[in-house]
Amino acid sequence: MRKSRIKRTKTVCTYCGVGCSFEIWTKDRHILKVEPNTDAPANGISTCVKGKFGWDFVNDRERLRKPLIRRGDSFYEAEWDEALDLVASRMREIKTNHGPDAIGYISSSKCTNEENYLMQKLARAVMGTNNIDNCSRYCQTPATEGLKRTFGLGGDTGGIEDIANADLVIVIGANPAESHPVLSTRVRRAHKRGTLKLLVADLRKHDLAERADLFIHPRPGTDLIWLSAVTKYIIDQGWQDNAFLQTRANGFVAYAESLAHFTLEDAVEKTGLSRETLKSVATMIHEAKRVCILWAMGVTQHMGGSDTSTAICNLLTVTGNVGRKGTGAYPLRGHNNVQGAGDFGAAPGLLPGYQPVSDAKVRERFEKVWGTPLPQSAGLDNHQMVEKIHEGKLKAMYIFGEDMALVDANANHVQAAFAKLDFFVVQDVFFSKTAEFADVVLPASPSLEKEGTFTNTERRIQRLYEVFPPLADSQPDWKIIMQLANRLGANWTYRHPEEIMREAASLIPLYAGVTYERLEGFKSLQWPVQEDGMDTPVLYLERFAQPDGKAQLYPVEWTKPLELDAEYDLHLNNGRMLEHFHEGNMTYRVPGIEQKVPVTYVEVSKELAEARGVKTGALVLLTSPYGKVKVRAVVTDRVTGNELYLPMNTPNDEEAVNYLTSSYHDAITHTPAYKEISVKLEVL
Ligand code: SF4
Repeated sequence: MRKSRIKRTKTVCTYCGVGCSFEIWTKDRHILKVEPNTDAPANGISTCVKGKFGWDFVNDRERLRKPLIRRGDSFYEAEWDEALDLVASRMREIKTNHGPDAIGYISSSKCTNEENYLMQKLARAVMGTNNIDNCSRYCQTPATEGLKRTFGLGGDTGGIEDIANADLVIVIGANPAESHPVLSTRVRRAHKRGTLKLLVADLRKHDLAERADLFIHPRPGTDLIWLSAVTKYIIDQGWQDNAFLQTRANGFVAYAESLAHFTLEDAVEKTGLSRETLKSVATMIHEAKRVCILWAMGVTQHMGGSDTSTAICNLLTVTGNVGRKGTGAYPLRGHNNVQGAGDFGAAPGLLPGYQPVSDAKVRERFEKVWGTPLPQSAGLDNHQMVEKIHEGKLKAMYIFGEDMALVDANANHVQAAFAKLDFFVVQDVFFSKTAEFADVVLPASPSLEKEGTFTNTERRIQRLYEVFPPLADSQPDWKIIMQLANRLGANWTYRHPEEIMREAASLIPLYAGVTYERLEGFKSLQWPVQEDGMDTPVLYLERFAQPDGKAQLYPVEWTKPLELDAEYDLHLNNGRMLEHFHEGNMTYRVPGIEQKVPVTYVEVSKELAEARGVKTGALVLLTSPYGKVKVRAVVTDRVTGNELYLPMNTPNDEEAVNYLTSSYHDAITHTPAYKEISVKLEVL
């Protein structure tokens, strides 16, 4: 009998932070089907459209197959040795002439933990710089800041499964039905069963907002105001959790005093919400025994993103809704491995495990294992790197798995910086917009062509296995980084990502007990993982991660958002759409998905459409002080008044929302204020 060539391989979805696990059935390089594992803890249900159908890009004819080297205005195909020798010699030369801090490294929250670990090790231990960052700077770093200020660790406090145990789920500035679909389905099912209430705060009436028991629409950039006013009202009514505050938290008196000016009157004036609405929010929180708050980029991508994230954590602390099952703080990570990229040290001030580069004892531990002295002061983040290129101080960059020319804010400014670099290396699966500026482009393998681990939004570490061998001459990122490091003087001998994880786990206390054996197949662990393999589904059941084990209330003030003016008189919001991923490099290459949603669009409210003569399908020109985008309009009641919505996903580079965004940013983390855009609209 002829032996079947059908193969089933377990992998982890790369399209969002939920981290669904499933088996992919293949025959040669053909994908036959994707089979969700409903026992896999992150899924519990199924997969969404991207997880189920979004994989045909792996065989796309536009995949990068060989290294490319610039010759004038074009590129020629090269062998790996020529490309890597060139990269090593140019990096060595720039380091010799300008010092190690003249080079910047951007790691990838789409790539594995092991790859992120090696990229930051290359930057620090081989090249001697802390100029290393990843794209969580664009989304969730402010949330991490809020969590660390109050609770001590930068991870979601519970697990996805535990959210359904809440009595009240509050969703702020997030659209889980499109951005975290399987998680949204779990919340929706619990809501339908009547076990929880749902409160949504957003500019847009998205799927969960339609279903919510209470939907509130504050003015853009005013979440900190209503959160603080509601917290003050709760305290004024005596509804705070005194037992929790006395035994498990510090700073209540000072925090309560700091709220003095966050009155309901002030909140009504600034947010546009009514007094009754604000009281209803407070009452819903008071009446619920267990409250979870979910938030995303509608909160973080503002000039006050870190402070608003902190205000959320303060509210949870005052009401005792943290450190218990069915409660807690859930900043929803966008990319599949945003959590892992940070955990493994792709950050300018933090070595793997969030251990400060400035701490001599920490450095000593790493220096012992890595066998080399390490740089002591924090490096540049990705926002600072762009500015330093413009100043002529950063001369070279090495980016992998990130189309920074389109996904960083103020794209024209970023692209003008890339054009000034002396040397630029881009490593990716496709020839991206960023690659247009490169001197060398290295062909990498996507997740289906490699092994390693990802850490999802609930701190869950999972293994992925090789479904196909790498296409043509492409290679997994970890292998490329290792070959480059060895050309630059290292002597790395990793034969498999398991060996990288073993080394990393010995240095990261949160991952102390993580082994590939404990992650075999569909097994997973949520950090912190003790040496004996015990993991932590819910954080802080006994102690917070602050030095004295108590949560810290942290007073914050409102940062006024950028305002509309007579010329740029419309507010432009942005986010994801269900069917597509990020800049669109992968999902727009999947025929079934591309046919269903082939183009992007801007949502225009009915009232604005009537006032400006906009019809669905009309081509409109959006202009901000930073650039222009031409796009088709969709007239809808999902948005209201002078607020527009443009998804970030587009098959056409010219339509990217970041041609409209600015370089304004959160003061603490430098996360761009992507959600503070004013534009004008013309019908073409
Ligand atoms: Fe992938 Fe997220 Fe969809 Fe799960 S919910 S299948 S992780 S995109």
